[in-house]
Amino acid sequence: MGPEVQELEEKLAEYVGVKHAITCANGTDALTLALMALEVGEGDAVFVPTFTFFASAETVAYAKATPVFVDSDEATFNICPIDLEKRIQAVIAEGKLKLKAIMAVDLFGLPANYPEIQKIADKYDLKIIEDSAQGFGGEIHTDGKCKRAGSFGNIATTSFFPAKPLGCYGDGGAIFTDNDEYAEIIKSYRVHGKGTDKYDNVRIGMNSRLDTIQAAILLEKLAEFPQELINRNKVADKYEAELGEKFDTPKVPEAYVSSWAQYTLVSDNRHDAMVEYKEQGVPTMIYYGTCMHQQTAFKYLGYKEGAFPIAEYLAKSVFSLPMHGYMRGVGGG
Ligand SMILES: *Cc1c(COP(=O)(O)O)cnc(C)c1O
Repeated sequence: MGPEVQELEEKLAEYVGVKHAITCANGTDALTLALMALEVGEGDAVFVPTFTFFASAETVAYAKATPVFVDSDEATFNICPIDLEKRIQAVIAEGKLKLKAIMAVDLFGLPANYPEIQKIADKYDLKIIEDSAQGFGGEIHTDGKCKRAGSFGNIATTSFFPAKPLGCYGDGGAIFTDNDEYAEIIKSYRVHGKGTDKYDNVRIGMNSRLDTIQAAILLEKLAEFPQELINRNKVADKYEAELGEKFDTPKVPEAYVSSWAQYTLVSDNRHDAMVEYKEQGVPTMIYYGTCMHQQTAFKYLGYKEGAFPIAEYLAKSVFSLPMHGYMRGVGGG
């Protein structure tokens, strides 16, 4: 946690447009620290999309709370606000869990539908955690204002794992918030629950420092990031122009900007499409082939196959093409 860490935190806060950016060891710790600050624990319901990376739901369970899964929006792959409200009402009707928070995920670089999610959070008195591990650089424009990923909800988190939009050369993460109290407590939790220093321990915390060397790398990469984002969007435009007729290509809603963590296609015959790409030397990947409610680790929650028709369809049909800001012939290449 050398001087570059603090410099990076200041630059991140400025870029995202929040009061506090607090770096940590990885994006999973960032979620855990956010849940700790919100005092999420046993008996709490946290609503989380079933079509996401495991860490989103894992950290909720790790905090001893109950992940309540929500189906996806077919067009954006993000948490569906209509299904979210249905799942909230089901939890209320069952009367076993306390409504606590919504963890929305900015999947594949596209911010979730925060205008709608915020209305639901206000109606049911829920906190919002924005899991922006894949969303850094994304934007939503409303009333002539641009809000960046990392500034939605009560607390937001990101990851600097190399495959994310802003990646370092190892592991790293950050938490974003405008709330002074959350910022203060997270800074304590990330260094063993420190009080005045790390040998004065006032609460049970963890070791989740960001390495100075990663901060130094991130400072250089953050300076290049706006140009990389432009290049990624050029790549996405070219993919759309070339593949729009052949596949169901990702659509960015009006007033949204994606940072294109992934360029994800939907196909009823993805197997053959992936084989064809492989023959041409183009690597493809499936993010994600298993929904959270289908994971062995979450069997204990008792969800049935068919409970999330859109997410289950996506898990069977999506695959992603190469995407970065230095692709030959496009943007910066
Ligand atoms: C990568 C990722 C995380 C976890 O980040 P790590 O830095 O790998 O711990 C959390 N949520 C989502 C949606 C992710 O894609």
